[in-house]
Amino acid sequence: MASLFGNGGYVYSSESEGEEEDEGTEGYRKGGYHAARPGDRFAGGRFVAQRKLGWGNFSTVWLAYDTLHSRFVALKIQKSARDYGHAALHEIELLSAVAQGDPTNSKCIVRLLDHFKHVGPNGQHVCLVTEFLGDSLLQLIRYNRNKGIGLSRVKEICRSLLVGLDYLHRELGIIHTDLKPENVLLVSTINPAKDPVRSGFTPILDRPVGSQYGGTVISFSEKMLRMRARRAVARISQRRVSLGGIAAEVEKERNLDGISLKCKIVDFGNACWADQQLAGEIQTRQYRAPEVIIGSGYSYSADMWSFACIAFELATGDLLFAPKNCQGCSEDEDHLALMMETLGKMPRKIASSGTRSKDYFDRHGDLKRIRRLKFWPLDCVLVERYNFTEPDAQGLTDFLRPILDFTPENRPSAAQCLKHPWLS
Ligand code: ATP
Ligand code: MG
Repeated sequence: MASLFGNGGYVYSSESEGEEEDEGTEGYRKGGYHAARPGDRFAGGRFVAQRKLGWGNFSTVWLAYDTLHSRFVALKIQKSARDYGHAALHEIELLSAVAQGDPTNSKCIVRLLDHFKHVGPNGQHVCLVTEFLGDSLLQLIRYNRNKGIGLSRVKEICRSLLVGLDYLHRELGIIHTDLKPENVLLVSTINPAKDPVRSGFTPILDRPVGSQYGGTVISFSEKMLRMRARRAVARISQRRVSLGGIAAEVEKERNLDGISLKCKIVDFGNACWADQQLAGEIQTRQYRAPEVIIGSGYSYSADMWSFACIAFELATGDLLFAPKNCQGCSEDEDHLALMMETLGKMPRKIASSGTRSKDYFDRHGDLKRIRRLKFWPLDCVLVERYNFTEPDAQGLTDFLRPILDFTPENRPSAAQCLKHPWLS
Protein backbone atom coordinates (compact mmCIF):
# COMPACT_ATOMS: atom_id res chain seq x y z
CA MET A 1 0.00 0.00 0.00
CA ALA A 2 1.18 3.43 -0.74
CA SER A 3 0.40 5.86 2.00
CA LEU A 4 1.86 8.76 0.07
CA PHE A 5 -0.14 7.99 -3.02
CA GLY A 6 -3.50 6.68 -1.92
CA ASN A 7 -4.47 3.13 -1.29
CA GLY A 8 -2.47 0.15 -2.54
CA GLY A 9 -2.73 -0.88 -6.16
CA TYR A 10 -3.63 -4.41 -5.39
CA VAL A 11 -7.34 -4.66 -4.83
CA TYR A 12 -7.76 -7.83 -2.86
CA SER A 13 -11.14 -9.02 -3.87
CA SER A 14 -12.88 -12.32 -4.18
CA GLU A 15 -14.17 -11.25 -7.56
CA SER A 16 -11.40 -11.66 -10.06
CA GLU A 17 -12.62 -8.51 -11.84
CA GLY A 18 -11.24 -6.36 -9.03
CA GLU A 19 -7.70 -7.67 -9.20
CA GLU A 20 -4.96 -5.94 -11.06
CA GLU A 21 -2.81 -8.71 -12.42
CA ASP A 22 -0.10 -6.53 -13.92
CA GLU A 23 1.06 -2.96 -13.71
CA GLY A 24 -0.55 -1.96 -17.03
CA THR A 25 1.00 0.53 -19.42
CA GLU A 26 -0.24 3.75 -17.76
CA GLY A 27 2.63 3.94 -15.30
CA TYR A 28 5.27 3.90 -18.05
CA ARG A 29 5.68 7.63 -18.57
CA LYS A 30 7.89 10.46 -17.35
CA GLY A 31 8.12 10.15 -13.58
CA GLY A 32 6.83 6.58 -13.73
CA TYR A 33 8.22 3.08 -14.27
CA HIS A 34 11.34 2.35 -16.26
CA ALA A 35 10.63 0.10 -19.25
CA ALA A 36 13.29 -2.56 -18.83
CA ARG A 37 13.84 -5.47 -21.20
CA PRO A 38 15.69 -8.74 -20.78
CA GLY A 39 19.34 -8.14 -21.54
CA ASP A 40 19.31 -4.49 -20.36
CA ARG A 41 22.34 -3.63 -18.28
CA PHE A 42 22.43 -1.57 -15.08
CA ALA A 43 25.07 -0.03 -12.80
CA GLY A 44 27.73 0.32 -15.45
CA GLY A 45 26.92 -3.09 -16.92
CA ARG A 46 27.19 -5.12 -13.72
CA PHE A 47 23.54 -6.23 -13.47
CA VAL A 48 21.69 -7.72 -16.45
CA ALA A 49 17.87 -7.82 -16.44
CA GLN A 50 16.45 -11.31 -17.00
CA ARG A 51 12.66 -11.23 -16.49
CA LYS A 52 10.12 -9.30 -14.49
CA LEU A 53 9.33 -10.81 -11.09
CA GLY A 54 6.64 -8.50 -9.82
CA TRP A 55 5.46 -4.96 -9.45
CA GLY A 56 3.99 -2.55 -6.95
CA ASN A 57 2.75 1.02 -6.89
CA PHE A 58 6.28 2.23 -6.54
CA SER A 59 8.32 -0.05 -8.73
CA THR A 60 8.81 -3.01 -10.99
CA VAL A 61 11.04 -5.79 -9.72
CA TRP A 62 13.26 -7.79 -12.07
CA LEU A 63 15.29 -10.94 -11.83
CA ALA A 64 18.79 -9.79 -12.71
CA TYR A 65 22.15 -11.44 -13.08
CA ASP A 66 25.03 -9.97 -11.10
CA THR A 67 28.04 -10.41 -13.39
CA LEU A 68 30.48 -9.40 -10.65
CA HIS A 69 29.48 -12.14 -8.21
CA SER A 70 27.96 -14.59 -10.74
CA ARG A 71 24.62 -14.82 -8.96
CA PHE A 72 20.97 -14.00 -9.49
CA VAL A 73 19.52 -11.05 -7.61
CA ALA A 74 16.28 -9.08 -7.49
CA LEU A 75 16.45 -5.58 -8.95
CA LYS A 76 13.78 -3.17 -7.76
CA ILE A 77 13.54 -0.25 -10.20
CA GLN A 78 11.64 2.59 -8.56
CA LYS A 79 9.42 5.02 -10.45
CA SER A 80 11.36 8.18 -11.19
CA ALA A 81 9.20 11.03 -9.81
CA ARG A 82 10.79 12.79 -6.85
CA ASP A 83 8.51 11.41 -4.15
CA TYR A 84 9.12 7.84 -5.33
CA GLY A 85 12.85 8.51 -5.35
CA HIS A 86 12.65 9.77 -1.76
CA ALA A 87 10.65 6.71 -0.74
CA ALA A 88 13.33 4.45 -2.26
CA LEU A 89 16.12 6.29 -0.44
CA HIS A 90 14.14 5.85 2.76
CA GLU A 91 13.78 2.13 2.04
CA ILE A 92 17.54 1.93 1.46
CA GLU A 93 18.18 3.65 4.80
CA LEU A 94 15.99 1.16 6.66
CA LEU A 95 17.23 -1.93 4.82
CA SER A 96 20.83 -0.86 5.42
CA ALA A 97 20.14 -0.76 9.15
CA VAL A 98 18.45 -4.16 8.87
CA ALA A 99 21.49 -5.66 7.12
CA GLN A 100 23.97 -4.05 9.49
CA GLY A 101 22.33 -5.51 12.57
CA ASP A 102 22.03 -9.01 11.10
CA PRO A 103 25.44 -10.09 9.80
CA THR A 104 24.41 -13.74 9.43
CA ASN A 105 21.23 -12.88 7.48
CA SER A 106 19.10 -14.99 9.79
CA LYS A 107 16.43 -12.52 10.91
CA CYS A 108 13.90 -13.22 8.15
CA ILE A 109 14.12 -9.83 6.45
CA VAL A 110 15.12 -9.38 2.82
CA ARG A 111 18.81 -8.58 2.42
CA LEU A 112 19.85 -5.38 0.64
CA LEU A 113 22.96 -6.03 -1.46
CA ASP A 114 23.48 -2.79 -3.34
CA HIS A 115 21.77 0.34 -4.65
CA PHE A 116 22.37 2.84 -7.43
CA LYS A 117 20.61 5.29 -9.76
CA HIS A 118 19.68 4.50 -13.33
CA VAL A 119 18.84 7.15 -15.91
CA GLY A 120 16.31 6.15 -18.57
CA PRO A 121 13.83 7.84 -20.91
CA ASN A 122 11.34 8.35 -18.05
CA GLY A 123 13.85 9.94 -15.68
CA GLN A 124 16.24 8.92 -12.95
CA HIS A 125 15.28 5.77 -11.07
CA VAL A 126 16.63 4.71 -7.70
CA CYS A 127 17.35 0.98 -7.88
CA LEU A 128 17.68 -1.50 -5.02
CA VAL A 129 19.49 -4.79 -5.43
CA THR A 130 18.32 -7.46 -2.99
CA GLU A 131 18.70 -11.19 -2.64
CA PHE A 132 16.44 -13.12 -5.01
CA LEU A 133 13.49 -14.66 -3.21
CA GLY A 134 10.62 -16.92 -4.25
CA ASP A 135 6.84 -16.65 -4.34
CA SER A 136 4.83 -14.53 -1.96
CA LEU A 137 2.47 -15.91 0.67
CA LEU A 138 -0.35 -14.66 -1.52
CA GLN A 139 0.86 -16.94 -4.30
CA LEU A 140 1.20 -19.78 -1.80
CA ILE A 141 -2.40 -19.28 -0.64
CA ARG A 142 -3.61 -19.22 -4.23
CA TYR A 143 -1.46 -22.20 -5.16
CA ASN A 144 -3.40 -24.16 -2.59
CA ARG A 145 -6.63 -22.82 -4.10
CA ASN A 146 -7.44 -20.67 -1.09
CA LYS A 147 -8.15 -23.69 1.08
CA GLY A 148 -5.70 -23.00 3.86
CA ILE A 149 -2.26 -24.56 3.99
CA GLY A 150 -2.51 -26.72 7.12
CA LEU A 151 -1.73 -25.69 10.67
CA SER A 152 1.79 -27.09 10.90
CA ARG A 153 2.74 -24.99 7.87
CA VAL A 154 1.01 -21.95 9.31
CA LYS A 155 3.07 -22.36 12.48
CA GLU A 156 6.30 -22.60 10.54
CA ILE A 157 5.56 -19.40 8.62
CA CYS A 158 4.40 -17.63 11.79
CA ARG A 159 7.73 -18.44 13.42
CA SER A 160 9.71 -16.80 10.60
CA LEU A 161 7.43 -13.77 10.60
CA LEU A 162 7.75 -13.35 14.35
CA VAL A 163 11.54 -13.63 14.25
CA GLY A 164 11.52 -10.85 11.63
CA LEU A 165 9.07 -8.68 13.55
CA ASP A 166 10.86 -9.16 16.87
CA TYR A 167 14.08 -8.05 15.20
CA LEU A 168 12.48 -5.00 13.58
CA HIS A 169 10.55 -3.94 16.67
CA ARG A 170 12.83 -4.70 19.58
CA GLU A 171 16.31 -4.41 18.12
CA LEU A 172 15.84 -1.73 15.45
CA GLY A 173 12.77 0.30 16.42
CA ILE A 174 11.18 -0.09 12.98
CA ILE A 175 7.45 -0.50 12.28
CA HIS A 176 6.85 -2.18 8.90
CA THR A 177 3.32 -0.69 8.52
CA ASP A 178 2.37 -2.75 5.45
CA LEU A 179 2.48 -6.41 6.41
CA LYS A 180 0.34 -8.52 4.10
CA PRO A 181 0.77 -11.82 2.25
CA GLU A 182 2.23 -10.09 -0.85
CA ASN A 183 4.98 -8.57 1.24
CA VAL A 184 6.22 -11.85 2.67
CA LEU A 185 8.23 -13.94 0.23
CA LEU A 186 9.23 -17.57 0.51
CA VAL A 187 12.97 -18.04 0.31
CA SER A 188 12.53 -20.47 -2.60
CA THR A 189 10.06 -20.64 -5.44
CA ILE A 190 7.15 -23.08 -5.26
CA ASN A 191 7.84 -24.26 -8.79
CA PRO A 192 11.53 -25.28 -9.10
CA ALA A 193 11.42 -24.40 -12.81
CA LYS A 194 10.98 -20.75 -11.80
CA ASP A 195 14.15 -20.77 -9.73
CA PRO A 196 17.01 -19.81 -12.02
CA VAL A 197 19.53 -21.74 -9.95
CA ARG A 198 17.55 -24.96 -9.41
CA SER A 199 16.41 -24.99 -13.05
CA GLY A 200 19.95 -24.45 -14.38
CA PHE A 201 18.85 -21.30 -16.22
CA THR A 202 21.62 -19.79 -18.35
CA PRO A 203 21.68 -16.06 -17.70
CA ILE A 204 20.84 -13.74 -20.58
CA LEU A 205 23.79 -11.44 -21.01
CA ASP A 206 22.73 -9.51 -24.12
CA ARG A 207 19.50 -8.19 -25.41
CA PRO A 208 18.05 -10.86 -27.74
CA VAL A 209 18.50 -9.61 -31.33
CA GLY A 210 15.25 -8.60 -33.07
CA SER A 211 13.25 -9.92 -30.15
CA GLN A 212 9.79 -8.57 -29.44
CA TYR A 213 10.09 -9.75 -25.90
CA GLY A 214 9.07 -6.69 -23.96
CA GLY A 215 9.56 -5.59 -20.42
CA THR A 216 7.00 -2.82 -20.63
CA VAL A 217 3.99 -4.93 -21.35
CA ILE A 218 3.74 -8.56 -20.41
CA SER A 219 4.31 -10.72 -23.44
CA PHE A 220 1.20 -11.89 -25.21
CA SER A 221 1.54 -15.54 -24.39
CA GLU A 222 2.05 -14.90 -20.69
CA LYS A 223 -1.02 -12.69 -20.61
CA MET A 224 -3.05 -15.36 -22.39
CA LEU A 225 -1.90 -17.94 -19.86
CA ARG A 226 -2.90 -15.72 -16.98
CA MET A 227 -6.33 -15.04 -18.45
CA ARG A 228 -6.85 -18.75 -18.91
CA ALA A 229 -5.73 -19.44 -15.36
CA ARG A 230 -8.08 -16.77 -14.07
CA ARG A 231 -11.02 -18.26 -15.95
CA ALA A 232 -10.14 -21.69 -14.58
CA VAL A 233 -10.09 -20.31 -11.04
CA ALA A 234 -13.45 -18.62 -11.63
CA ARG A 235 -14.85 -21.94 -12.86
CA ILE A 236 -13.49 -23.78 -9.85
CA SER A 237 -14.96 -21.31 -7.38
CA GLN A 238 -18.34 -21.42 -9.14
CA ARG A 239 -18.22 -25.15 -8.83
CA ARG A 240 -17.30 -24.90 -5.19
CA VAL A 241 -20.40 -22.82 -4.57
CA SER A 242 -22.69 -25.14 -6.45
CA LEU A 243 -21.31 -28.51 -5.42
CA GLY A 244 -20.01 -27.76 -1.95
CA GLY A 245 -18.41 -30.85 -0.46
CA ILE A 246 -18.26 -32.73 -3.74
CA ALA A 247 -16.09 -30.03 -5.25
CA ALA A 248 -13.54 -30.62 -2.53
CA GLU A 249 -13.14 -34.15 -3.81
CA VAL A 250 -13.00 -33.14 -7.44
CA GLU A 251 -10.28 -30.58 -6.76
CA LYS A 252 -7.38 -32.74 -5.73
CA GLU A 253 -5.43 -31.16 -2.91
CA ARG A 254 -2.22 -29.69 -4.24
CA ASN A 255 0.78 -31.09 -2.57
CA LEU A 256 2.77 -28.59 -0.54
CA ASP A 257 5.18 -31.24 0.74
CA GLY A 258 8.77 -30.53 -0.08
CA ILE A 259 8.14 -26.81 -0.50
CA SER A 260 10.41 -24.89 1.82
CA LEU A 261 8.39 -22.50 3.93
CA LYS A 262 11.23 -20.32 5.12
CA CYS A 263 10.18 -16.79 4.39
CA LYS A 264 11.27 -13.18 4.62
CA ILE A 265 9.56 -9.83 5.00
CA VAL A 266 10.00 -7.44 2.04
CA ASP A 267 8.82 -3.98 0.94
CA PHE A 268 10.08 -1.38 3.38
CA GLY A 269 8.79 1.48 1.22
CA ASN A 270 6.33 2.53 3.92
CA ALA A 271 8.23 1.31 6.96
CA CYS A 272 9.24 3.87 9.58
CA TRP A 273 11.30 4.41 12.67
CA ALA A 274 8.82 4.23 15.52
CA ASP A 275 9.86 7.68 16.75
CA GLN A 276 9.62 9.32 13.32
CA GLN A 277 6.14 8.50 12.07
CA LEU A 278 4.99 10.37 9.01
CA ALA A 279 1.77 8.91 7.68
CA GLY A 280 -1.45 9.04 9.67
CA GLU A 281 -3.06 6.25 7.71
CA ILE A 282 -0.98 3.16 7.26
CA GLN A 283 -1.46 -0.45 6.16
CA THR A 284 -3.42 -2.08 3.36
CA ARG A 285 -7.15 -2.09 4.06
CA GLN A 286 -7.77 -5.69 5.13
CA TYR A 287 -4.72 -5.77 7.40
CA ARG A 288 -5.34 -2.36 8.97
CA ALA A 289 -5.53 -2.13 12.76
CA PRO A 290 -8.54 -0.51 14.47
CA GLU A 291 -6.47 2.29 16.03
CA VAL A 292 -5.35 3.32 12.54
CA ILE A 293 -8.96 3.48 11.32
CA ILE A 294 -10.13 5.63 14.21
CA GLY A 295 -6.99 7.75 14.12
CA SER A 296 -5.66 7.23 17.61
CA GLY A 297 -1.98 6.69 16.76
CA TYR A 298 -0.11 3.43 16.32
CA SER A 299 3.02 1.58 17.24
CA TYR A 300 4.63 -1.84 16.78
CA SER A 301 1.36 -3.45 17.83
CA ALA A 302 -0.21 -2.36 14.53
CA ASP A 303 2.18 -4.78 12.76
CA MET A 304 1.07 -7.48 15.19
CA TRP A 305 -2.56 -6.94 14.15
CA SER A 306 -1.61 -7.45 10.48
CA PHE A 307 0.40 -10.51 11.48
CA ALA A 308 -2.69 -12.09 13.06
CA CYS A 309 -4.73 -11.33 9.91
CA ILE A 310 -2.09 -13.10 7.82
CA ALA A 311 -2.00 -16.14 10.12
CA PHE A 312 -5.79 -16.50 9.85
CA GLU A 313 -5.60 -16.20 6.07
CA LEU A 314 -2.91 -18.86 5.81
CA ALA A 315 -4.99 -21.19 7.96
CA THR A 316 -8.31 -20.70 6.15
CA GLY A 317 -7.46 -19.29 2.72
CA ASP A 318 -9.85 -16.38 3.40
CA LEU A 319 -9.33 -12.82 4.54
CA LEU A 320 -10.09 -12.34 8.23
CA PHE A 321 -11.78 -9.01 7.48
CA ALA A 322 -13.02 -8.08 4.01
CA PRO A 323 -14.84 -4.77 4.47
CA LYS A 324 -16.98 -3.29 1.71
CA ASN A 325 -18.62 0.02 1.04
CA CYS A 326 -22.23 -0.63 1.87
CA GLN A 327 -25.33 1.49 1.50
CA GLY A 328 -25.01 4.51 3.69
CA CYS A 329 -21.84 3.46 5.43
CA SER A 330 -18.18 3.63 4.61
CA GLU A 331 -15.66 0.84 4.24
CA ASP A 332 -14.14 2.01 7.53
CA GLU A 333 -17.39 1.60 9.40
CA ASP A 334 -18.04 -1.79 7.81
CA HIS A 335 -14.51 -2.80 8.81
CA LEU A 336 -15.11 -1.80 12.44
CA ALA A 337 -18.42 -3.70 12.41
CA LEU A 338 -16.73 -6.85 11.09
CA MET A 339 -14.08 -6.59 13.81
CA MET A 340 -16.69 -6.26 16.52
CA GLU A 341 -18.72 -9.17 15.15
CA THR A 342 -15.67 -11.40 15.53
CA LEU A 343 -14.01 -9.88 18.58
CA GLY A 344 -16.81 -8.34 20.59
CA LYS A 345 -17.55 -4.72 21.34
CA MET A 346 -14.68 -2.27 21.23
CA PRO A 347 -14.06 -0.83 24.72
CA ARG A 348 -15.64 2.62 24.89
CA LYS A 349 -12.43 4.24 25.99
CA ILE A 350 -10.68 2.97 22.86
CA ALA A 351 -13.61 3.71 20.56
CA SER A 352 -13.64 7.35 21.64
CA SER A 353 -9.88 7.89 21.60
CA GLY A 354 -9.28 8.72 17.94
CA THR A 355 -9.47 11.84 15.81
CA ARG A 356 -12.15 10.10 13.72
CA SER A 357 -14.05 8.44 16.59
CA LYS A 358 -17.00 10.82 16.25
CA ASP A 359 -17.42 9.87 12.59
CA TYR A 360 -18.16 6.26 13.50
CA PHE A 361 -19.28 5.96 17.10
CA ASP A 362 -22.05 7.51 19.18
CA ARG A 363 -21.44 8.46 22.79
CA HIS A 364 -22.31 4.97 24.00
CA GLY A 365 -19.52 3.52 21.89
CA ASP A 366 -21.94 1.98 19.37
CA LEU A 367 -21.52 2.37 15.65
CA LYS A 368 -23.70 5.15 14.31
CA ARG A 369 -24.85 3.55 11.11
CA ILE A 370 -24.52 -0.18 11.60
CA ARG A 371 -26.79 -1.07 14.46
CA ARG A 372 -27.35 -4.78 14.60
CA LEU A 373 -24.15 -6.78 14.84
CA LYS A 374 -24.13 -10.56 14.58
CA PHE A 375 -21.53 -11.79 17.00
CA TRP A 376 -19.68 -14.79 15.62
CA PRO A 377 -16.50 -15.44 17.64
CA LEU A 378 -13.30 -16.64 16.05
CA ASP A 379 -13.33 -20.22 17.37
CA CYS A 380 -16.91 -20.71 16.15
CA VAL A 381 -16.04 -19.26 12.73
CA LEU A 382 -13.17 -21.74 12.46
CA VAL A 383 -15.38 -24.71 13.34
CA GLU A 384 -18.63 -23.73 11.63
CA ARG A 385 -17.31 -22.08 8.51
CA TYR A 386 -13.94 -23.72 7.96
CA ASN A 387 -14.62 -27.17 9.40
CA PHE A 388 -11.76 -27.03 11.89
CA THR A 389 -11.85 -29.61 14.67
CA GLU A 390 -12.63 -28.10 18.08
CA PRO A 391 -9.05 -28.54 19.40
CA ASP A 392 -7.53 -27.03 16.22
CA ALA A 393 -9.93 -24.09 16.38
CA GLN A 394 -9.21 -23.58 20.06
CA GLY A 395 -5.44 -23.74 19.57
CA LEU A 396 -5.42 -21.17 16.79
CA THR A 397 -7.87 -18.94 18.66
CA ASP A 398 -5.77 -19.07 21.86
CA PHE A 399 -2.84 -17.87 19.79
CA LEU A 400 -4.57 -15.18 17.72
CA ARG A 401 -7.18 -13.76 20.06
CA PRO A 402 -4.76 -11.83 22.34
CA ILE A 403 -3.05 -10.31 19.27
CA LEU A 404 -6.42 -9.08 18.05
CA ASP A 405 -7.03 -7.06 21.21
CA PHE A 406 -8.68 -3.69 20.50
CA THR A 407 -6.37 -2.11 23.05
CA PRO A 408 -3.00 -1.94 21.27
CA GLU A 409 -1.01 -1.97 24.53
CA ASN A 410 -2.59 -5.28 25.52
CA ARG A 411 -1.39 -7.11 22.42
CA PRO A 412 1.57 -9.43 22.97
CA SER A 413 4.85 -8.47 21.35
CA ALA A 414 6.49 -10.64 18.69
CA ALA A 415 8.91 -11.92 21.33
CA GLN A 416 6.01 -12.93 23.58
CA CYS A 417 4.20 -14.64 20.68
CA LEU A 418 7.33 -16.67 19.92
CA LYS A 419 7.00 -18.20 23.39
CA HIS A 420 3.35 -19.18 22.91
CA PRO A 421 2.77 -22.93 23.38
CA TRP A 422 0.81 -23.13 20.10
CA LEU A 423 4.09 -22.57 18.23
CA SER A 424 6.14 -25.14 20.06
P1 ATP B 1 3.95 -1.74 -3.06
O1 ATP B 1 2.98 -1.19 -4.05
O2 ATP B 1 3.43 -2.99 -2.41
O3 ATP B 1 4.49 -0.74 -2.08
P2 ATP B 1 6.59 -1.83 -4.25
O4 ATP B 1 6.56 -1.11 -5.54
O5 ATP B 1 7.20 -1.13 -3.09
O6 ATP B 1 5.17 -2.34 -3.88
P3 ATP B 1 7.63 -4.47 -3.59
O7 ATP B 1 6.43 -4.82 -2.79
O8 ATP B 1 8.92 -4.33 -2.85
O9 ATP B 1 7.37 -3.19 -4.51
O10 ATP B 1 7.84 -5.56 -4.73
C1 ATP B 1 6.83 -5.81 -5.68
C2 ATP B 1 6.75 -7.29 -5.98
O11 ATP B 1 7.99 -7.72 -6.58
C3 ATP B 1 6.57 -8.20 -4.77
O12 ATP B 1 5.21 -8.34 -4.39
C4 ATP B 1 7.17 -9.51 -5.30
O13 ATP B 1 6.25 -10.18 -6.12
C5 ATP B 1 8.34 -9.03 -6.17
N1 ATP B 1 9.61 -8.99 -5.41
C6 ATP B 1 10.03 -7.99 -4.60
N2 ATP B 1 11.22 -8.28 -4.05
C7 ATP B 1 11.58 -9.49 -4.51
C8 ATP B 1 12.72 -10.37 -4.30
N3 ATP B 1 13.72 -10.01 -3.47
N4 ATP B 1 12.74 -11.55 -4.95
C9 ATP B 1 11.71 -11.92 -5.75
N5 ATP B 1 10.62 -11.15 -5.99
C10 ATP B 1 10.55 -9.96 -5.39
MG1 MG C 1 4.59 -4.69 -2.01
